[in-house]
Amino acid sequence: MRILVAGFQHETNTFAATPATYESFLNGEGFPALRRGDRLHELTRVNLAVGGFLTAMANSGADLVPVIWAAACPSGRVTRDAYERIAGEIVDAARTTRPDAVFLDLHGAMAAEHCDDGEGELLTRLRAVIGPDVPVVVSLDLHANVTEQMLSAVDAAVGLRTYPHVDMAETGVRAAGLLRRLCSGERLHLRWRRIPFLIPVNSGCTDFGPAREVYETVAPLSGDDACLSFAAGFPAADFPECGPVVWCHGPDPEAAGRAVDSLYENVVRREAEWRVNVLPPEAAVAEAGRLAEGASRPVVIADTQDNPGAGGDARTTGMLRALAGAGESAALAAIWDPGAAAAAHTAGLGATVHTALGGHPGIAGAEPFEGAFVVEHLADGRCRFEGPMMHGTEIDSGPSACLRIGALRIGVTSGKVQLLDRAQLRMLGIRPESERIVVLKSSVHFRADFEPAAEAVLVAAAPGPVAADPADLPWRRLRPGIRTSPLGPSVPTPKELS
Ligand SMILES: [Zn+2]
Repeated sequence: MRILVAGFQHETNTFAATPATYESFLNGEGFPALRRGDRLHELTRVNLAVGGFLTAMANSGADLVPVIWAAACPSGRVTRDAYERIAGEIVDAARTTRPDAVFLDLHGAMAAEHCDDGEGELLTRLRAVIGPDVPVVVSLDLHANVTEQMLSAVDAAVGLRTYPHVDMAETGVRAAGLLRRLCSGERLHLRWRRIPFLIPVNSGCTDFGPAREVYETVAPLSGDDACLSFAAGFPAADFPECGPVVWCHGPDPEAAGRAVDSLYENVVRREAEWRVNVLPPEAAVAEAGRLAEGASRPVVIADTQDNPGAGGDARTTGMLRALAGAGESAALAAIWDPGAAAAAHTAGLGATVHTALGGHPGIAGAEPFEGAFVVEHLADGRCRFEGPMMHGTEIDSGPSACLRIGALRIGVTSGKVQLLDRAQLRMLGIRPESERIVVLKSSVHFRADFEPAAEAVLVAAAPGPVAADPADLPWRRLRPGIRTSPLGPSVPTPKELS
């Protein structure tokens, strides 16, 4: 039994400014760097679906053929060049190795410059090469915008069940179990339904609220022999199949249908609970200051509208202005500014650099933050995640620095990366446990490592490119009838338009 194994992941914000290039995938930008062949086995040490799959299949007697694994920071569309090179390698490998089965570690919300449904396109090309009878199982992110093309090209798709995504390896193990069953001749039937509204990213956190309540029911509803999944979707991809989907693969089609209906009802009857709840930057800083009085641990604020994990560029400055305006003592990380990082390295430790930090073109309130900054720490940008989210991942953010102005410490990196692990702050010379307030360029993933060490967590909406409420985005191509946020406005149907 020869099993082809590969991974190609990107979460595409079609509204975001910066594309994902081949170089983005080479570096990984917060994910493990691109690797090929036997080097995929290194990922068994990392909390990723591919790692869980390879570990689960290690003693199965199967001949594993690892091809390529590549991921990049969420951003604008994947360039045609990057897509064709990586997808092409996977399809070529299927052509030459003629596998008996395939496992792909995918995201499910990738759009390329020339194609809205990156995974659907890849799976269709793969299927054309391997034929209809070779079992294909894929793992998908909780933020997948699952499409009909994807589902029709695979024998089973398995979704993550946590956000922060701490169950990635576990999901790979589940995929391995399904692939073994398919290889032994079992047939699985698919049932699926679309949710009629977009779910804001922040509302999808499974630590509390409706997402926790809903995701807690997924495993019990699955039962022993079916596999039920709910992808909350990625609400910043402007194409007709953007949105949450519930699906189930099971040996009994009627039981699979009942599981889907039950989960669907559980999601939609809570529509009001899925609405997003965020604070303006000044209110978040004032609230953090109040909570920090007498506290022994930091108050953490998520700068959610600039989250590089959802397509932000980590260079907005609204939170810096709010902190400076309030005269607060705080740390903020990380601003993506290769020029400022280089200036700090040139000036040297203890020197003062005059610079304009960050700044996001075209967004009022996100202009560069000018000042004289003391270079308090210099680093090479390398660190290893110690928290639960992608535990073991080694990242390289390039030349990095901690710049201080007054009582504000600002982490600056040359590479764009979501700040989700305390090891990233330590790399920047910032001890999060000693800070009064810590502001992070992240939406939810940071919670896995930071929340246990935080006095409180707040979510702020400073001006930025990642709309906390998807209804604020300039949608053009969603399918008619879907609501652009829970209880929000719906896209007009052709009948309503005429
Ligand atoms: Zn995700």
